[in-house]
Amino acid sequence: GNFVPPMRSNGGNVGNMTSGVTGKGDDVLDDSTKTCLEMLCGPDGELPEKLRNLEPRLIEHISNEIMDRDPNVRWDDIAGLEHAKKCVVEMVIWPLLRPDIFRGCRSPGKGLLLFGPPGTGKTMIGKAIAGEAKATFFYISASSLTSKWIGEGEKLVRALFGVASCRQPAVIFVDEIDSLLSQRKSEGEHESSRRLKTQFLIEMEGFDCGSEQILLIGATNRPQELDEAARRRLTKRLYIPLPSLDKEARAWIIRNLLEKDGLFKLSDEDINAICKFTEGYSGSDMKNLVKDASMGPLRDALRHGIEITKLQKEDMRPDFENSLNEVRPSVSLNELGIYDEWNKQFGSLS
Ligand code: ADP
Repeated sequence: GNFVPPMRSNGGNVGNMTSGVTGKGDDVLDDSTKTCLEMLCGPDGELPEKLRNLEPRLIEHISNEIMDRDPNVRWDDIAGLEHAKKCVVEMVIWPLLRPDIFRGCRSPGKGLLLFGPPGTGKTMIGKAIAGEAKATFFYISASSLTSKWIGEGEKLVRALFGVASCRQPAVIFVDEIDSLLSQRKSEGEHESSRRLKTQFLIEMEGFDCGSEQILLIGATNRPQELDEAARRRLTKRLYIPLPSLDKEARAWIIRNLLEKDGLFKLSDEDINAICKFTEGYSGSDMKNLVKDASMGPLRDALRHGIEITKLQKEDMRPDFENSLNEVRPSVSLNELGIYDEWNKQFGSLS
């Protein structure tokens, strides 16, 4: 029974174990699944206990589609949000970097909620946390669990937490977490989504009590829909606002996007003028604005019958005037009151 085939191409130990556990023969696992399972094996060449009862195809999906080894976002890429960044460093990055110090009274919460209007940088913060803490990043949209993985969501959640525990330190980012942990449904709630929610809370409970270095980040535009159990587990709740109050942040986004691509350098005066007109724009609105403005000179050239091959770099001045009419803020200022209220009541930094 302990015999291990000497040839790796035969799937090594992975083939042995999965055939025993899933009840399927080694031959049903294709090469990519085998490679993926092999990469999760411990130094002893064995698949960790937590993964043994999981379906290999779900483990593979998590490893290939949801796990991101190099999220490639740094703090410096995120405009503004200085206060939120500072808190995140203290609350989550230090504990991930120095688990030996952050124990006992200093032990950190393992759930963080980022809430605020869409497009303000919540996903960027999640990725930056993973990048700065040298952690593996897992991104999943909660609505895909309920729509795309109908009936399989629970299994996928188990696989997600299972793979994350083999890839510590790990950051699990759950976008639109309200659609998973909302209080709304209780009556008409489908049995399957109730089970999914329960499974998710069980998994969270599990790593919250243990010594695992896993941080769960939930992001939402609708914090008011989260139920009490979710709030309780997401112990830190940070408001990620629009950069509307912060002209500097908007100016930074414009400068950064134009200069990073070496497209065009605008004068400070021009940038200030644009900032005056972009009150209420989110980070993602600013990005769309710069993209649209950068296309302006090309559209002009087309209109005037100028060949694209003849265009010089000097002709590529972005046209913000037109784009400011085209790209409008996606968040209405009226909506912001809801976030302020919720922040006052439940936020960590109200
Ligand atoms: P959210 O998760 O809050 O909906 P994202 O983090 O996905 O928003 O942001 C979408 C895009 O908008 C980002 O990829 C980035 O280009 C831009 N963006 C949003 N907020 C910022 C910010 N604070 N600084 C720089 N870029 C931002």
